[in-house]
Order: sequence, then C-alpha cells, then structure tokens
Amino acid sequence: MDIVVGTRNAHKILELQRILGPLVPGLTLVPAPGPSPVEDGDTFSANALIKARAAFAESGLPSIADDSGIVVDALDGAPGIHSARYSGSGIDEENTALVLSRMTGVVNRRARFVCAAALVHAGGELVLERSWEGSLAQAPSGSGGFGYDPIFVPEGDSRTSSELSDDDKDALSHRGQAFRALAEHLVALG
Ligand code: IMP
Repeated sequence: MDIVVGTRNAHKILELQRILGPLVPGLTLVPAPGPSPVEDGDTFSANALIKARAAFAESGLPSIADDSGIVVDALDGAPGIHSARYSGSGIDEENTALVLSRMTGVVNRRARFVCAAALVHAGGELVLERSWEGSLAQAPSGSGGFGYDPIFVPEGDSRTSSELSDDDKDALSHRGQAFRALAEHLVALG
C-alpha cells in the first residue's frame, strides 16, 4: 500500500517507516511530490492536517503527516509549534543552545515532546495527538536522533533521547505513540 508522507524531513520519514512498517503490511511511504504548504495553524493538530491535506490534494493517495515539537513549561510552552525554527536558523544545535540559554538557572525543567499524526484520504480525515514527558538536561549529550533529542531526558530515564537506541526511542516517543495509534486506520484502508 502506497501512503504519501507530507514531510521533507528525512529523519521523520525513517522514523515513520520504522514505526509503521511492522504494523501495516506492504506499506511503502512515498514523500509528498509538491512544495511544503504554509504551516499557519495555531496547534500541532492543525499543522499536521494542513500538511496531510496538501499531500492528499497533490497525490490523490492516502496521505499522512505529523507536526511535532518540544513544549517547555518554564518557557510558557515554547518552542512548541515553532520548534523547528526556534532560533531563526532551523539549525538543531542553535535551537538547543537557545533553549538551554533561556533555561539558565531555571529549576523547573519539565518538558514534553508532542506529536500530532494526521491521515487524510478519500473517505475522510483524522488527527491524533500524543506526548512524551520528560525534562531538559543541563547540557547536550548523545549523537543519535535529531532536533532536541540531545537535551531531552525522558521521564524514568537518566539518558537523553539522543542516547537511546532507535527501538527504545520508538517504543516511548510521542511519534511512536501517535503513529501506532494511527496504524489501525491505515490497515483498514488496505
Ligand atoms: P515539524 O517538522 O514542523 O513538525 O518540526 C518539528 C521540530 O520539532 C523538529 O525540527 C525538531 O526540532 C523538533 N522535534 C520533533 N520531534 C522530535 C524528536 O523526536 N526529537 C527531537 N526533536 C524533535
């Protein structure tokens, strides 16, 4: 089954293939053909739907997309939906450095990754949101993953999500939870 993915982030496509592959028989994920739509929603769910709708409009095939980010309590929910370009540059190391600098001396380091997973197909649309609780490290650590992984310490662990194996991250992560919940809807399409 060909499913179009409304993202140009190669890391995300790899993660989605790992998460959905075992659950959706015969799944092939195809990157969306057209340009990225403007993500002008106010929420993760709104932006995930914008991306999945655009991919469906371009391809006519069942389309999925996610919108995700990190929400830091002491920063009033920032970076939130602006996670990818929080520092302005879109460079992961600059985003994490800016978050850490704004958290200097802050005791409440509570944070969570959030993922909204959307599916748009001829029969309708659906969006599901899941989160992964944790806290911010004092300094980056680890070389795996992407984005804010080097500074996110999942609840119940002492390592950053950058230091987890791919399988361990997928089992716990916001994206793993959201797309596992979406998988049964993809199977029903087949
Ligand atoms: P999006 O492509 O608009 O959904 O941007 C998501 C951004 O949130 C990414 O560029 C990362 O900065 C951050 N992010 C989302 N999920 C993760 C994750 O699993 N690990 C680390 N950073 C993440």
